[in-house]
Amino acid sequence: MPEVKDHEVVIVGGGAAGLTAGMYAIRYGLDLALLTLGAPGGQTATATTIENFPGFPEGISGAELIMRLTQQAENFGVVFESAEVRRITREGQRWRLHCDEGDYLATAVILAAGASPQRLKVPGERDLFGKGVSYCATCDGFFYRGETVAVIGGGNTAIEEALYLADIAEKVYVIHRRDELRADDILAERAFATAKIRIVWDTIPAEIHGSDAVTALVLHNKKTQEDFELAVTGVFVAIGYNPNTGFVSDLVELKDGFIVTDQRMRTSQPGLFAAGDVRDTPLRQVTTAVGDAAIAADSAYRYVAQRR
Ligand code: NAP
Repeated sequence: MPEVKDHEVVIVGGGAAGLTAGMYAIRYGLDLALLTLGAPGGQTATATTIENFPGFPEGISGAELIMRLTQQAENFGVVFESAEVRRITREGQRWRLHCDEGDYLATAVILAAGASPQRLKVPGERDLFGKGVSYCATCDGFFYRGETVAVIGGGNTAIEEALYLADIAEKVYVIHRRDELRADDILAERAFATAKIRIVWDTIPAEIHGSDAVTALVLHNKKTQEDFELAVTGVFVAIGYNPNTGFVSDLVELKDGFIVTDQRMRTSQPGLFAAGDVRDTPLRQVTTAVGDAAIAADSAYRYVAQRR
């Protein structure tokens, strides 16, 4: 039987929210473990350039910001442990986090597990993942120098990815299911002004073709009902994110899969707090995630201090 580790606070997730919560919690003198799946970073680490994080007038790459945040958390003494939480159950006045790597007991838990890219769920997507299908332009864009690629989606992520890819690829198609972008105007204007980007309106992907590598994208125009093919070697899917809340879905109140909290980041269960993209919030940004995290750590501190 693996040992059960016992802490005052366990933070689930090592993205911007988890790292910030860890930093604050340590400064409050809490004994904690921060659980991550692999290296810290979350979605922030995959962002090309973050232009709206205060203090970086030239912008900062997601990877650089996460590197600095991780360093800052480590400087305070945050220790990362690799574990995947399968479910959380009540044990007396405490919480048990069930992990394959061994369970954790905690007085308070900060849920900061973030969100994962949504899948298109079309034929070819799964088989060609890593062979032309990608969910991260900054991670994989490099391989498409001089090639023709497609980005699926019309939100901020899709447009940022298209702009990033336009500096590398020969041509970038943006495939959007409506006739108006969801992305902020400032990004949309940049895309419209970029000659290499062509937006294909009212269109959804039907299939991705290729055996060993992507060769084409089959599209369906919703207005004309026409099906047609685009020859591309890369398909970047950017259609939003699903919250990583499966392990608490029967425990805390959710709204559309996201964890409902009050303004002190308290969930519907005592001692369980949430921060960042897992939370039901009107704005999902790095700035809001780190703000949530500071409040969640403060609330966890008050909760633990009353029970010491
Ligand atoms: P998003 O805002 O939810 O946009 C998803 C896009 O994908 C939408 O255009 C949507 O179309 C489309 N879509 C969804 N499901 C689809 C499907 N099955 N097939 C085809 N298209 C589909 O997601 P996001 O762009 O990843 O952004 C997530 C959050 O992060 C947002 O709050 C965003 O503002 C924020 N963010 C901010 C920045 C920034 O400020 N610089 C950068 C990146 C992300 P519809 O428009 O028709 O719904």
